Amino acid sequence: MAAVNRPARPPLIGVLALQGAFREHRQALERLGVAVSEVRLPRHLDGLHGVIIPGGESTTMAKLMRDYGLDRALESFHRDGGALWGTCAGAIELASDIVGFPEQPRLGLMPMSVVRNDYGRQVASFEADLDIRGLDAPFHALFIRAPRIVAVGEGVEVLARYEGDIVAAAAPQLMATVFHPELLGDDRVHALFVERVCGLPLTAAGLTGEAT
Ligand code: GLN
Repeated sequence: MAAVNRPARPPLIGVLALQGAFREHRQALERLGVAVSEVRLPRHLDGLHGVIIPGGESTTMAKLMRDYGLDRALESFHRDGGALWGTCAGAIELASDIVGFPEQPRLGLMPMSVVRNDYGRQVASFEADLDIRGLDAPFHALFIRAPRIVAVGEGVEVLARYEGDIVAAAAPQLMATVFHPELLGDDRVHALFVERVCGLPLTAAGLTGEAT
């Protein structure tokens, strides 16, 4: 699933910074030594290899994306080979199907069905150790009003499950996680995105040699 785009440019990852937990993603990438920029307007996508769409509130984020023209800009960024990773609300933006909310705006680039808030309310947030494909040891994950991925389409690879449900998935130049890997200080999922989804070299500990 490595991106093949624009190898000549220095590695640079963007974080969609309209709303939600974007600062924490920025800090995680910086801890890995990756250059990061914040994306608020379509022109901020120039020169990026990948973009993280953070957790937050998916309807608000979608409205802001549309207001700033970032919905179509992100679609063409992806069509041109750019990688996208959605966490929690960001995963909802990537999903082709949001069960019960057919009218909710979204990018819809990843063939999967999600049910919003299906693990319960904020007070039902929980933590769990996950075996994630591509990581050499379990990952402690935090779920906050997470969506549930109830189905994935052809070409989508399951990276992790929790009690049978898919909680991390990937497709060419796409990754979705319903938990929040940016909040607990373990940056291995960020490394996975940079190396395996964006196809950028990174000297990170904790990834397996296996290609995902
Ligand atoms: N419940 C939020 C939504 O549906 C997502 C929560 C999150 O990103 N932590 O938009």
